[in-house]
Amino acid sequence: MDDSVKEKIRKLALQNAVEHEGKTQDKIILSKALGTIPELRKIVKEITPIISDIVNSINQIPFEQQKSEIAKEFPDLLVEKPKKEEREGLPPLDGAEQGKVITRFPPEPNGYPHIGHAKAAIIDEEYARMYGGKLILRFDDTNPEAERLEYWAAIKVGLDWLGVKYDMVKNTSDDMELLYKKCLELINGGFAYLCTCKQETVSANRREMKACKCSLGDLEQNLERWEKMFSKYKQGEVIVRFRGDMKSENTVMRDPVMCRIIEAKHPIHADKYRVWPSYDFSVAIEDSIDGVTHAFRTKEYELRNELYYAILDALKMRKPKVIEFSRLGFEGMPVSKRILRPLIEECKVSGYDDPRLPTLEALKRRGITPEAIRKFVLSLGFTKADTLAPFDTLESLNRKIVDADSIRLHMVKNPAKMKISGMPNVITLPNHPTKDIGTREIILDENLYIESEDIKNLKTGDELRLMGLGNVQITKTEPLEGKYAGEELKQQIPKVQWVVQKDAQKIKILIPSQLFIGEQFNEKSLEEIDVFVESYYSQLKEGKEIQFVRFGYCRKDSVLQAIYTHK
Ligand code: ATP
Ligand code: MG
Repeated sequence: MDDSVKEKIRKLALQNAVEHEGKTQDKIILSKALGTIPELRKIVKEITPIISDIVNSINQIPFEQQKSEIAKEFPDLLVEKPKKEEREGLPPLDGAEQGKVITRFPPEPNGYPHIGHAKAAIIDEEYARMYGGKLILRFDDTNPEAERLEYWAAIKVGLDWLGVKYDMVKNTSDDMELLYKKCLELINGGFAYLCTCKQETVSANRREMKACKCSLGDLEQNLERWEKMFSKYKQGEVIVRFRGDMKSENTVMRDPVMCRIIEAKHPIHADKYRVWPSYDFSVAIEDSIDGVTHAFRTKEYELRNELYYAILDALKMRKPKVIEFSRLGFEGMPVSKRILRPLIEECKVSGYDDPRLPTLEALKRRGITPEAIRKFVLSLGFTKADTLAPFDTLESLNRKIVDADSIRLHMVKNPAKMKISGMPNVITLPNHPTKDIGTREIILDENLYIESEDIKNLKTGDELRLMGLGNVQITKTEPLEGKYAGEELKQQIPKVQWVVQKDAQKIKILIPSQLFIGEQFNEKSLEEIDVFVESYYSQLKEGKEIQFVRFGYCRKDSVLQAIYTHK
């Protein structure tokens, strides 16, 4: 081995030692050397002891001296690369006092959590932390028809995965007695009345801005109906309505529902309650009694703010600050339980973790990390504009996070056979071109698979570079044969990936794309391809992120299947 190579290894070792308080290790330097000096890959056995010697000698030099040697011999290593701050953070909160901010994340347990929930929960949490305050997780479980225990668990699992930590957890239904009390207070104060009009009549009156007879009923009538709501009346026969303003420009204020009867069994309380508060009623009361100082919700609730404050005014209760942000959505990828649920029920997708969906389960399975989701949410900032977010921003944030740990493997999509004479017997490849994530040994054989695409126009005499391995000169085209032509790096020849036929593993890669094109369900939204990968794939744990060379990042889903993450 010539001295310039030894010098390169010494440089790697010195740099690594200084980065690790004066000590380096031969394994690490071996993999760095193989990553940066390709010609060494064929002579791993020979260089291993040389590397050990170099590492030993450097480990014996005191830390301070190592640093001065770098300054003398390799000053280029000292030029610091400027680090870009990616986190944009959130703007300060209006009226926030250190130590006193309380936020809440109030999901309804009627579906699996998705990236829209992640946005809300992350913003709630970031603000609580920013001001040394508290985050409450409040399950908004007042519509027993749609809610299931399974979703309570799924939401907790999702938040856990995201790394969102809450300080308290509760259910709105824990406070049913209190909600009844507050409702009765509204009735007694003349702020609410019981209406027995048919649903159609209620709607028609709202459109025509007309009050109904029920609104004129006296307290006695209202109290009697309230009593009967818990026993005699059936679902749909009576509602409690807030006395708003039937002539209001804001349709929300046209005597909205505060309580209604729902006969369905509740996942926690079973048949205990049949009178349930509406969202508008319960959210205002709960936010107020929970001590919430800043209540975030998506922009489509903006018109409901007037009602929120009117209820709390009527009851003389403390008023939190309600703040809106935009609803997160992606082009062709619906982010809403209302749209997601039917897709699953009609089997258009395989389940809540189908990689085409924006649920947390699906994003996880696809290889998107919680860190990337948080950065993404913060990078969007606090806009109210409801524009579709660019999914590729999430992908590029994710790529930066997974790259360092993603092992590089060879994968061949449309395999063509090639026979090569004169190959080395074994080769050691670094798992990453620049990071220390180990090496792998490949026992070579003269029969390889390479991409059909790559050999299309090859003629006898042409050269190819088998990535990580060396050059091959074509000696015959049908069948394709070649001879090994050494290591030398040449600029002009095509570089191709390859796998050894004998132990190539056949797996499936799922490639998700947009679920909808315009309004239309995209029947081709999940492409499946059969490919050959290196046998090393089978040694990786499920859930490992891999970069298939010249293809993209994929997450190992099972022994037989990987899911395409992104380019
Ligand atoms: P969905 O349409 O999925 O049912 P939702 O708003 O009814 O949405 P909830 O479980 O009631 O779902 O939402 C809990 C919290 O998450 C609410 O504060 C809501 O504003 C917020 N949220 C839900 N979807 C999004 C989204 N796409 N972008 C931002 N925040 C969202
Ligand atoms: Mg909802």
